[in-house]
Amino acid sequence: MKKTFKTEVSQLLDLVINSLYSKKEVFLRELISNASDAIDRARFEALTDKTQEADEEYKINLLANKEAKTLVITDNGIGMSAEEVERNIGTVASSGTKKFLQAMKDKANAPELIGQFGVGFYAAFMVADKVQLVTRRRGDKAVVWVSDGNGEYEITEGDEDAAYGTSITLFLREDMMEYVDEWRIREIVRRYSDYISYPIVLFPDPSIAPEKDDKGEIEIKEPQTLNSMKAIWKRSKDEVSKEDTDSFYKHIAHDNEAPLATVHFSAEGATEFSALLFIPAAAPFDMYFSQAKCGLQLYARNVFIGDDIKELLPHYLSFVKGVVESSDLPLNVSREMLQDDAIIRRIRKVIVGKLIGAIEEMKNKRPDDYTKFYREFGRMIKEGVHGDWENHDKLKELVQFPSTLSDDASKLVTLKDYADRMPASQKEIYYLTADSFEVAKNTPLLESFKKHGYEVLFFIDPVDEFVAERLREYNGKKLRAIDRGEIDLDGDETDKSKDGKKEPTEADKQFKPLTDFLAERFKDTVKTVRLSNRLTDSACCFVADEYGYTAHMERVMRAFNQTVPPTQRIMEINAESPLIKKMLDSVNAGNASIEDWADLLYGQAQLAEGTPLSNPARFNKLVSDLMLK
Ligand code: ADP
Repeated sequence: MKKTFKTEVSQLLDLVINSLYSKKEVFLRELISNASDAIDRARFEALTDKTQEADEEYKINLLANKEAKTLVITDNGIGMSAEEVERNIGTVASSGTKKFLQAMKDKANAPELIGQFGVGFYAAFMVADKVQLVTRRRGDKAVVWVSDGNGEYEITEGDEDAAYGTSITLFLREDMMEYVDEWRIREIVRRYSDYISYPIVLFPDPSIAPEKDDKGEIEIKEPQTLNSMKAIWKRSKDEVSKEDTDSFYKHIAHDNEAPLATVHFSAEGATEFSALLFIPAAAPFDMYFSQAKCGLQLYARNVFIGDDIKELLPHYLSFVKGVVESSDLPLNVSREMLQDDAIIRRIRKVIVGKLIGAIEEMKNKRPDDYTKFYREFGRMIKEGVHGDWENHDKLKELVQFPSTLSDDASKLVTLKDYADRMPASQKEIYYLTADSFEVAKNTPLLESFKKHGYEVLFFIDPVDEFVAERLREYNGKKLRAIDRGEIDLDGDETDKSKDGKKEPTEADKQFKPLTDFLAERFKDTVKTVRLSNRLTDSACCFVADEYGYTAHMERVMRAFNQTVPPTQRIMEINAESPLIKKMLDSVNAGNASIEDWADLLYGQAQLAEGTPLSNPARFNKLVSDLMLK
C-alpha cells in the first residue's frame, strides 16, 4: 500500500536531495551508526531475554554492486516491527524533523548536521534515488519499506525466511557511482566509523569478474573488515592522537567541528571507569529545552547500556558529549536503576570535577577558546553557580560579566580580575542589574561610582539576578547592588550613631521641606525620600530598599510569571543639582507649580531605570507645557 510522508518529511527530503552539499559521504556514517545502535540494542535485549541466542556474531555488512548500481548495508541488530518502521522511518512525526527544517533556514550547508536531529536515515537520499529497507525483529514478521523520496513510500510484508536485523539497499543516483567503489567505501568507513565496536565487513563486488594472478590462477577475493573496532576511550591517553579523539567526537556528536576541549582519563580506586568527554565548540540548538538529547553514552564491560544517560551529568553540564565505561556496573543494569545508583553517583562526582578542571585550564591557558566557550555555555555555568554547592567556589571563578570599563557587552571581566583591580579605598564589589548593556551604561546611578573610579559590574542576563543572590561575596568582599539600600562612597562608619542610624546632616535639614513635600505627594509608591550619595549630575533616581526587589528584579519575576508583591521604592534626590535647589526654593516660597515639577521629576526617575511611566499622558503634557514656556 502506498502512503504519503508527513509534510515535514517531504520538505526535509527535498532539502536533502537538492542540497549542493559536498560531503554527501556522511550518509554512510549515518547508516552505519544506525546499524551499530541497532546491534547495541539487540545485544542488550539478548542479555535480558533468555529466548535469544546469546552467541550471535554481530556484524555490519556492506555489499557494493557496480552493475546493479547498488550499495547494501546490512546489520543483524534489533530490527523493526511494521509499526516501528511506520513510526521511525515513514512518518517521522519526530520533532527532530521540524527542528532540523527550522535550523536549515538559518544555516547554509546544514545537511552535515543531519544526524544531530534524529533524521540521519534520510541522508540516504543524498546519494540514492530509491531506498529499500527490509527489516525483521526476532520472532516477528519481516517488513519491506520502499521509497523514491518523492513524497511517497510503500510498506509490504517481507519474505518468511528473511534474516533478523535490517538491510538497506541504496539504488545510487547516476552521479553517485563513487559509492560502489571499494577504495572509496574503505576510505569513508575508516574516516568516520573506525571505532564502531562491531566488524564492518566489505564483501567483494559480485558483478566484477575475478582477476587472474601472474600464474594465471583465479584470485578469489575475501570479505574484508574495514574498521579497527578499538574502543578508543579504553586505550591510554598517550596511545590516541588528537585526530583520533576528534574524529570520534564528530562521530558521536554528529558534529563537523572539532571539540573545544577533550577530557580523557581512567579512574582507579573505589570506582573504576574510563571516560572520554568533549566540550563542543557550539551549543546544541535545543540546549535549553527540557526534552533535549543530553547525557553520556554508558558501557559496562564492553556492553552498551544506553545513550543519553542523564544521571552522569548535572544539568548545567548537559552539553558535554562522550562515553563512560565502567567495569563495576552490573550488565543488566536498567535505566531506572541508574537513577539511584551509588556507583553512578561516584562516577558523576569525578566527571564533574574533571570537566570543571578542563574548563579552568581552558580559561587560564587558552583565553580565546574560553571566550568562545563562555559565549556558548556561560549561562550554563551560571546555572552551576546557582545550583552546585559542592563546586560553588570553583564555578565562581569561571563566571564573567561586562562592567563600566567595557566598551561593549562582549567585553567581560571575572570576579578575580575585578577584585584585583579594585582601588584600596573600595570595600565592596558593586553590581547593577539591568535589561541591557545600554541601559546599564547610561543609568544615573553610576555617576558617583564613576567619579570615585569604582568599577561596577553589569548583570544583564536575566539569570544574573539569581546568580547574584547566590554569589553574596567574593574573597571576603561583599557583592553590593548599587540600586539598593544606602550607599555612601565617601562616608565611613563614624558617621553612624550607636543604633546604626545616620545623624541627619546639615543638608538633610536644609532640604527637609522638599523631601517632606515629595514624600507626601508620592506616599503610595515611595517609602522614603532622601538626599543621594549616588548622583553627581542627575536630579533624581529610584533605588530599592536594602532587602526589597529592585526594578529589574520585578521585571524578571514577572517575566517568569511570578506574582510580585507591591513594593515601595526609595526616591533619592541630588542636593547638588540646580534643579533640586530650585525646587527647594519653590517649596519654601509656596509656589503652586511645584506639583507639576515633582511629577516630572518622578517620571524622569522612572524612565531612567527603565520602568514604564505610570501616567504617560500627564508626563507628555507637562513636558509640552514646559517647552512652550
Ligand atoms: P536517529 O538514528 O537519530 O534516531 P534516524 O532517522 O537515523 O534517526 O533513524 C530513526 C529511527 O529508525 C532510529 O531511531 C531507529 O529506531 C530506527 N532505525 C534506523 N535504522 C535502523 C536499523 N538499521 N535497525 C533498526 N532500527 C533502525
